[in-house]
Amino acid sequence: MPIAYLTRRTVIACAHRLYSDALSHSENALLFGPCAYENFHGHNYEILVTLKGKIDPKTGILFDLTQLKKIIHDQITLPMDHRNLNLDVPAFKTLNPTVENIAVVIWQALSPSLPKGLLFEVQVFETENNIARYRGE
Ligand SMILES: [Zn+2]
Repeated sequence: MPIAYLTRRTVIACAHRLYSDALSHSENALLFGPCAYENFHGHNYEILVTLKGKIDPKTGILFDLTQLKKIIHDQITLPMDHRNLNLDVPAFKTLNPTVENIAVVIWQALSPSLPKGLLFEVQVFETENNIARYRGE
């Protein structure tokens, strides 16, 4: 059976502030630039969730896209869209909401709802130029 990759795209709008308590205020400002501004700011995050698996010869698909859409909606869009990541999303109470950490948190939120081994990659575009990928390692 052929192995295929199936990707679902989702866009969410979130506020955040990047700040590490392990750094001084000036080090944070230098490292994170405008993303360290005290009163938050927003991004439109483009999220690509990719599954990898065998194509079912009976149906021609590797996973039901309607089901994947619902899982992403319930686990990512509902808790994160139009939210302040630092204040509203429990995973970021103590975790800096960098694009890398957002990719990891999305992976951790999705993987329990998907068949084991099916989730291949989460990509998060914070801007058109800043992109993180996580593959569960
Ligand atoms: Zn930012």
